Amino acid sequence: MGFLTVENVHHSYFTPKTVTTALQDISFDMEEGEFISLVGPSGCGKTTMLSILSGLISPTQGKVMIDGQAPNSNTASIGYMLQQDYLFPWKTIEDNILLGLKLKNQLSKEAKVKSLSLLKEIGLEGVEKQYPRQLSGGMRQRAALVRTLAINPKILFLDEPFSALDYQTKLKLEDLVFDTLKAYQKTTVLVTHDLGEAISMSDRILLFAAKPGRLHKIFIVPEELRSTRPFNVRSKEVYSILFQEIWKELESLETRE
Ligand code: ADP
Ligand code: MG
Repeated sequence: MGFLTVENVHHSYFTPKTVTTALQDISFDMEEGEFISLVGPSGCGKTTMLSILSGLISPTQGKVMIDGQAPNSNTASIGYMLQQDYLFPWKTIEDNILLGLKLKNQLSKEAKVKSLSLLKEIGLEGVEKQYPRQLSGGMRQRAALVRTLAINPKILFLDEPFSALDYQTKLKLEDLVFDTLKAYQKTTVLVTHDLGEAISMSDRILLFAAKPGRLHKIFIVPEELRSTRPFNVRSKEVYSILFQEIWKELESLETRE
């Protein structure tokens, strides 16, 4: 059994007049330390899947287990990071990154030192006393990542964390996040609409189809790419081949609609 298991998950959203099947019969496993990406057309259920994995919502059917437990958004074991950084504007960067620890009653001196050194590792030394508005978008996303990692989660869920950034910043952050998550051997699920990002960061890619949201196909990223940093992956021949393969599959999903 894997570190994370998803078994026959269905999810429907109900409103008084409509039922939307956001996810239909999803099953997959993940190993500890693995990095997977969820890709697919808008509305195929990627965000719903992350909300279920993180325990924010319960699926209408099926089961999710993470390290032998059903996910619960109140436990310290899950880190969830969104497209927008959601740092509190009235708190300093230091207070923002320590907030999760404080809320979970885990703000020891040791935990604080560790979080501040993580800030340094990610290239944000010196911004501790600044406010989010004083930082660029890329810096804020890095601070948000530090906040997510500060609680030392067993697993990370990233929902399009780079999509609001300019291209150059995004490419740089991909490398930085890749290195950081590898160093801490974090199990990670990334949602992205950028195929290149999925290929360059992941071990496997789960392609979802829409209406209803379902798992269409799983692509395994070749070892040669997995062991290479994201920026360099993009210039490899194997990268282009895989990109074309997934692209074709995406196109075929769209023409089928
Ligand atoms: P993605 O992240 O891949 O774009 P979502 O998980 O956001 O997809 O949405 C999947 C489907 O569920 C879409 O049809 C969307 O309109 C619907 N949906 C998402 N959230 C809700 C909600 N809170 N209430 C009703 N329908 C929703
Ligand atoms: Mg989404």
